[in-house]
This record gives sequence, structure tokens and C-alpha cells, in this order.
Amino acid sequence: MAVESKDIRNLALISHGGAGKTTLTEMFLLNSGIIKQAGKVEDENTKSDFMPEEKDHKYSINNSYFSLNWKNKRLNLIDTPGYADFRGEVASALRISEGALLLVDSNAGIEVNTNYVWQMASDNQLSRFILINKIDQEGSSFRKVLDQLIDNFATTILPITIPAGEAENCQGIIDILSQKMFTDEGQQDIADDFKEEANDYRFELIEKIVELDDELMMKYLEDEKITDKELASALSKGVSSGEIVPLFSASALQNTGVKELMNHLMTLIPAPDEAGAIEGVNGQEVQLSVDSPFVGLISKTMVDPYIGKLSIFRVYSGKLNKGESIFVPSSKSNLKVSKIYKLNGAEQEQVDSIVAGDIGAVAKMDELETSDTICDPDIEIELEKIEFPDPMLTMAAKASEGSDDEKMASALHRYSKEDATFKVNYNRETKELLITGMGSIHLSVINDICQRKFDVGFQTGTPSVAYKETIQKKVDVEEKYKKQSGGRGQYGHVYIKMEPLPRGKGFEFDEEIFGGAIPKQYIPAVEKGIVEAKDEGVLAGYPVVDFKAIVYDGSYHDVDSSEMAFKIASSKAFKNGLTQAKPVILEPIMDVKVVVPENFMGDIMGDLNSRRGKIMGMDPDNGNQIIKAQVPEAEMFSYATDLISITGGYGYFTMDFSHYDKVPAENQDKIIEEANRDNK
Ligand code: GDP
Repeated sequence: MAVESKDIRNLALISHGGAGKTTLTEMFLLNSGIIKQAGKVEDENTKSDFMPEEKDHKYSINNSYFSLNWKNKRLNLIDTPGYADFRGEVASALRISEGALLLVDSNAGIEVNTNYVWQMASDNQLSRFILINKIDQEGSSFRKVLDQLIDNFATTILPITIPAGEAENCQGIIDILSQKMFTDEGQQDIADDFKEEANDYRFELIEKIVELDDELMMKYLEDEKITDKELASALSKGVSSGEIVPLFSASALQNTGVKELMNHLMTLIPAPDEAGAIEGVNGQEVQLSVDSPFVGLISKTMVDPYIGKLSIFRVYSGKLNKGESIFVPSSKSNLKVSKIYKLNGAEQEQVDSIVAGDIGAVAKMDELETSDTICDPDIEIELEKIEFPDPMLTMAAKASEGSDDEKMASALHRYSKEDATFKVNYNRETKELLITGMGSIHLSVINDICQRKFDVGFQTGTPSVAYKETIQKKVDVEEKYKKQSGGRGQYGHVYIKMEPLPRGKGFEFDEEIFGGAIPKQYIPAVEKGIVEAKDEGVLAGYPVVDFKAIVYDGSYHDVDSSEMAFKIASSKAFKNGLTQAKPVILEPIMDVKVVVPENFMGDIMGDLNSRRGKIMGMDPDNGNQIIKAQVPEAEMFSYATDLISITGGYGYFTMDFSHYDKVPAENQDKIIEEANRDNK
């Protein structure tokens, strides 16, 4: 069926894991006739979770994309993963949707990831909806969860459907707008037991809606009748502007209240063409219409076992027809699109074109990457890239037994192109491959995927800290290296001064030889002796930095002196000097920026103190506090997980290298002890 932009609706389902997104998706598909029977999460036969890793873990890892028809419109539905570790997928889904439906468990209420994904939807300025799900389950409390949501989310939440009884007494749902009750038997008048409650909710709904519209407010104050149509239209406007969040109730499992939810969503999610125009990064504008030149955005790429690389895209203007050429501004490449698909979970259906507002996929176009703009070769517009959350957990990866490191590194690099929240870096100093992801579950899932797709696995460990050693006082050392027994001997003799340099200066070498005490040709060997020896300090074997060595005297032997002899002499002199010059271990100190809601300030500061952190400053930022601190890297490896547990998922942080600083004595003893143990 050819579809027009005005009839398309794009919706992302978001929640903390387990609130019922996968189950709700099944019911949307069932109600719209895409499937004849709903699958169950427990039976591993749902349409959303089709990757082997998703079936194993019973939670979603990737977005699942669906397209269904309801009320003569097309609904593109994106089921996102609910675990904090897969928030990158949520970012990608929200970017291409007009609406976000937050599911909340009627028993658990707000959970860690509920807050976070809600914030993401708000930051993306989407029309937001809330569903209190599982009203059939034991312990369900619609009212309690509603109050909690109202207390926590600074916005006007208006119940549109409420449960008619809960848990074992659940008879169905009541629609506050139409004042009808919906049960298994269909639509009916509200039962007496619920009339008063339904009336109160309607009263509240009207009061809140008229506040948004001066004309309606006048009518209301003058006791004139406000029609349902006027209410619905004011409600739609409030939803589009983000001022109102409609709230629904349902049992996804029993398909109670789901059709009514679908009906309301189809009228309340803004149509794609309502937004007017979109702007490129260089200020170019394109009208969001099917008659404008084609502009789209790649929201995600993934490798499908049967089709190869699939790139999911949203069209913002114009139309993409199969067989056409597209331009990719980021790589300046022209590509030909041979096939286009619509997705329904693991199934793909070939289509001839995708119009503005719609979501589709192209296959086997390996050049395309997440966040790439694709457009008509004649207009060269580039859209803003998708903003992904910064991954916070860094681990060192080693190939598991039977895999080799190079193959592992190349698999990880390849995977990092698919997943914008996964980064791979080689640390030259510690000689470790560092992988950074959203959390430990994320990294372990990537391990499973690499095993399956590339046949390599890896193990993770805490990364090594790139410690260094330095000296704290000036010393003067003499070293004579002499072997003169039979045949040609060895003779090298040096006087060397060593002195500390300021932090970050590395190593300097100088010579102040007078009267040819050491012939010129041996000086480079003297330097080389120190350069090689300074790779390993005397305390724990870390490289020695921030000092200057000056060779100022010595002696030589006409026959026995050689470069080798001077090199050995100077390296011995350096080692002696190092031991005498009050050596210490230096550690990397990081600039850390933590962003948390104000009420967590105390906990965060206390925690940073216990990590030997130095608070550098605080800035209020729109209800949040940004705390700047300098913290030793060694204390930060568990911070990604600890911050989530301290703040209930509200906080995040970024970290960059700042400088090296002296390790306190008690920590230094531990580092030395560990280094000695490792060497044994
Ligand atoms: P997701 O992680 O958000 O996709 O949640 P799922 O759809 O996987 O659901 C998590 C669990 O809750 C599964 O065991 C579902 O069967 C169950 N569940 C989902 N919706 C309902 C509901 O409306 N009522 C009850 N009682 N259980 C539900």
C-alpha cells in the first residue's frame, strides 16, 4: 500500500527492562493482523527478540523495527532495549521518532532506567506518553505509580485510560475522554463502582487542558459547554508542544486496554510533516515534504546473518526509490540503492520506495555508517549526527584461549563501527587493548556476538595503570666499568649528575665534559645507556620520567674503551643514582566531570573524596550539578557502575587525562608489592 507522509506515525517504546515492551509489541502486531497469535517472552517466540543473544538472556539488545496499519494509518514501532547498557539503541530510536511511549510496571513504579530514558525522550523534544502496564498482576497499584510519576516528572501528566479494577479484580479499562468502559465483551457504559472516579479524572483533565488554550478557558469559566472535539484538539496541541503527557493503563499480557491505547496514539502522535522543515549542520533547510529532494539519516547499521549489512534509515524529505543513486556527504561517496526494505522484526519485505517520514532499510551497502546523512546528489545537505551516550566502563581485553589477539582486535574494531557506544583503543604504554562500553553486560554481550559472528572471544580484566617513576632530589654518581683480564678489555668511566625536572618534561640529557675527559664519540653511547635503562625504574619497574642527566666528567682507555663499555657504565650510574635520588611512583590523574541531580551532591562528593579525588569546582546546570574533580585513574575503574548505583541511574560522567602526580606512600607500597608479586 502506498502511504502518504501525513498518515505515518513513528513511535519508540522505552522503559526499564521488564516493563512489558516486548509483550506490548506482540499485541500491537496481533491487533493489527500482522501475526495471528501472540508469542511469549518465556517461550522465546516473540517478534522483537530474535537475536540468539536476546533469546539467551531474555532481554533486548538491539532495537526491533515494526510497521503496521491501524485506523488507516501506518505506525512504525521501535521496541528499544530496557537495560541501561543498551541506551545507545534508545538514542538511535528516539532520533527518528516523533513520539516516545514510556512503559512503567504497575507494581515496581519508577526504576533505575525509567528516569534515564524519560530524560532522553525529553531532551529529544518528542511527544511523550506513559503507559502503566500489568494492571492485571498481583500487587498492581495504578494510583500509587501515577502519584510517583507526577512527583518525579516535572510535567503535566493526564490519565486518559484508567483501570476498571486491578489485579484479580481487573475488568478492563475506562476511557476518560469518551467516558466508556472497555472489557472483554467490548465497549459499555461505566459500571457504577467506577463512575465517580472516572468523573473526577475527567474533571481534572478538562481543567488542565483549558489552561493551555485561552479561548477554551473563557468558555470554561463562563460555564459554556466544551465539545469533545475541542478537547481533543487542545490535547493534541499540548502533546505536540510537550506540555502534556497523556497517560494510559493496560495489561499487555491480556491485551486489555491495548486497542484503546493504539487508537489514542494514532491521533496524538504528531505526523512527520507537522514539524515543518529540517536544518542541516551548515544551515541549509529542507521542507519535510515528499515533493522536496530526498534527505535521510542512517540511524543504525547491523549485520543480518542472511542479508548481510542492513542499514536502517529515516526519510526526512522527498522519497527514496529503488535503483536511485544517493550521495553520502560524510564520505563524499555516490552509492546506488538496489533494494529497499520495510522491517518487521527479523523479517524484511522488499518495497519500491520509502517516503518522507517513513523508516526503511537498505542492504549490503557496507560504506554506510550510523549517523550518516544520505541525500539526493544535487543538494548535499548534512544533518546533525545522532547524539549517543558516552560509554563509561573501560576494560582491558585479551583474546580467550584458542583465539589470537590480532583477530580479536580486528573483530572488535569492526563491531565498534556498528555500535556507537563501543570504543576500542590500544594503550601503547601498558600494551593493552582497551575496550570501552556502557557497562559489564554490554561488554559480555559483545563477547557473545564476536564469538558467533567472527569466531573470536575475549576476556576482560581491570586495565593496568600506566604508572611512572621519577626522582625527587639531585644526585651525583660515579661509575667505572672495567674488565681488563687477557685479550681486549672494557673500559668506561663516567660522572653523572641527575636532577628532577618539572612534571611532564620527560627526559633531558646534557654533556659538560671539559678537556676531552670522555672523547666526543662516546657521548651518544653514554646517553643511550640511560635512555635504555630508564624504561625500568628501581621501585616497581615503571618508566622513569621528568629528570635530567648531565655527564660532566670521566676517563677513558686508548685501547679498551668502547661504546659498549660507556653504555654499560652510564646505565649502571643511572641505576645507582636513581636509588639515591628518593625515587617515587607517579600516577595518572584524570579530569573528571560528574553530572547529577542536586540531591545527590553530598553522596557524590563523599564518594569522590574516598577515591582520593580533589574537588575543583561545581556549576549548577538546570536542576543538575556539574562537579569537576581530579581523581587518580586507579580509583576510577569501577566508577561507571558505582555512579549508577549511587544516583539510581540519574548520573553520568566523563573523564580525560590531566597530568601525572606522586602516589601517596601507602598506595606506593601496595603498587611495589604487586609489581614484585607479578615478577615472581
Ligand atoms: P520488556 O523487557 O519491557 O520487553 O518486557 P517483556 O515484554 O519482556 O515483559 C517482561 C515480563 O513481564 C514477561 O514475563 C512478561 O510476560 C511480563 N508481562 C508483560 N506485560 C505484562 C502484563 O501486562 N501483565 C503481567 N502480569 N505480566 C506482564
